Amino acid sequence: MASLSLKGVGVSRGIAIGKAYLLQRDQLKVREYLIPPSLIEAEQERFKQAVAVAKQQLAEVRQRIPSSTPVDIVSFIDTHLLMLNDKALAQAPLKLIRERGCNAEWALKLQRDALVAVFEDMDDAYLRTRKDDVDHVVNRIQRILLNQADHIQVIMDGRLKGKVIIADDLSPADTVTMQNEGIAAFVTEYGGPNSHTTILARSLGISAIVGVKNALRYLRQGETVVVDGFQGMLLAAPDARALAHYQRRQRQEKRHQSELNKLKELPAISRDGLVISLQANVEIPEDLAMMNKVAAKGVGLYRTEYLFMNRDQPPDEEEQYETSREVVKQLRGRPLTIRTLDLGADKIPGHEVRHEVRGVVTNPALGLRAIRLCLRDPALFLTQLRAILRVSAEGPVGLMIPMLASVHELQQAMALIDQAKDELRREGKPFDDGIPIGGMIEVPAAALLAEVFAKRLDFLSIGTNDLVQYTMAADRLDNAVNYLYQPTHPAVLRLIDMTIKGGRKAGIPVAMCCEMAGESRYTRLLLGLGLTEFSVQPAMLPEVKRIVQDSDVEQLAMKARRVLRMASAMEVDAFLEKLNDLD
Ligand code: PEP
Ligand code: MG
Repeated sequence: MASLSLKGVGVSRGIAIGKAYLLQRDQLKVREYLIPPSLIEAEQERFKQAVAVAKQQLAEVRQRIPSSTPVDIVSFIDTHLLMLNDKALAQAPLKLIRERGCNAEWALKLQRDALVAVFEDMDDAYLRTRKDDVDHVVNRIQRILLNQADHIQVIMDGRLKGKVIIADDLSPADTVTMQNEGIAAFVTEYGGPNSHTTILARSLGISAIVGVKNALRYLRQGETVVVDGFQGMLLAAPDARALAHYQRRQRQEKRHQSELNKLKELPAISRDGLVISLQANVEIPEDLAMMNKVAAKGVGLYRTEYLFMNRDQPPDEEEQYETSREVVKQLRGRPLTIRTLDLGADKIPGHEVRHEVRGVVTNPALGLRAIRLCLRDPALFLTQLRAILRVSAEGPVGLMIPMLASVHELQQAMALIDQAKDELRREGKPFDDGIPIGGMIEVPAAALLAEVFAKRLDFLSIGTNDLVQYTMAADRLDNAVNYLYQPTHPAVLRLIDMTIKGGRKAGIPVAMCCEMAGESRYTRLLLGLGLTEFSVQPAMLPEVKRIVQDSDVEQLAMKARRVLRMASAMEVDAFLEKLNDLD
């Protein structure tokens, strides 16, 4: 049998080999039929019953969630439960049944189409994927109405162990139900870099590829498949040579992981004796467990947006205080750098933060986000500042302001921090009066004036996730221009260099807390440019540490500066290959 390879988007690293389990769900065939007026009420009752059963099913899934389940998954299921209580899904179809005199399935389909159309019209890539939620919930109700069993719930009997699940799409409830079954990987036909499946795969740490079109059509039940999460490639019916190749890579990968685990207790010191600070970026509570596993020295970036997502009302001071206090407690004396709210643009909460000019939505990345939004809404900002200040009484806490572009913004923010301090003083609530205040350097204007900002701050932290998008004028969410999203573009590197120098001149520390900081192929370059503090996704930390231990920083410093005179990212990348090969 000839091998077949299919391409998708690799969303979770790792290689998996297993037998394919094709999750063939019967296509839901929904037809319209007319209901006589005398039976309308009974039809409405049937719909209500179906919604009630759907709620009961999801509540059961929710109850069975083991405590180790990533919080993302739990919150997706909670969202689905909320949707089942929402008028748009639970009530609107009842009205349609009466008005059109049609069956419940058809009314639900019409309502689904109307809701999905609204989502599809949205400009924001993340919000567009929210239509998946509508479909997951609607399909659950439709299955109940049509008396079709939920496939995933039926097969929970250990049959999936070691299997590669091939499905059109997986709902959060499917994922929770499957997670304890020991599946090897999953492959879905739908989904992109922002889809739920993607987020879930990353949280669960299993290999996964999404967006493999027609996978269910081309693959056969039970055949051996290889999932290469690095390349986003699926290989079906591999021949003996390919199979041996992937088995070898799988063994290498395992060995590599266990080598990295051994580094845990070793310090991050370069060959020539320079101590490098390796901290972790934390967004969700699970990251804390992971950062302990890799022995990070503290949290260099605590993103606080997470608490503001998927809800109508922002959390109050007490909730923010308690959440951060819990993190401080878990860090047991290690430093915690809390970033103030960075809502807007790619980080959209339950409520809209969009910029409209005469009905046209302009690019939100250039609009009201982060510190700009906080200064526009001082009450929101003050609540957070008070919470952070109060937490500073509990352990070593720093406060970091995102997206600074002008000194005026910094002055306004400082005035609000002083106001929050005065209030707390009057109320007799303790806080650390000397709490270090830092700024993120993610806008070219701030990088160019790093020295000016550094004189007014206690530390700087470079965020290239944004610095690259603003330097290259290439939206970080827009795939059409991602060829321009180049962290190694000499213009970006010059801004990084200026920031490091600006901080050094003012005598304050400069860290970097973005994806680039965690990408080990940039570690030597950054060390060479003088960076000594990295804050990275916990899973990336061991590899960065390995490179630090393997590097002679003095030697790198002499070579790395050459990149500042180069003309293109391509030239820099070619140079990096050699730099990374140095012994
Ligand atoms: C950055 O922009 O590099 C950064 C760390 O912030 P975020 O990714 O949260 O925008
Ligand atoms: Mg940013």
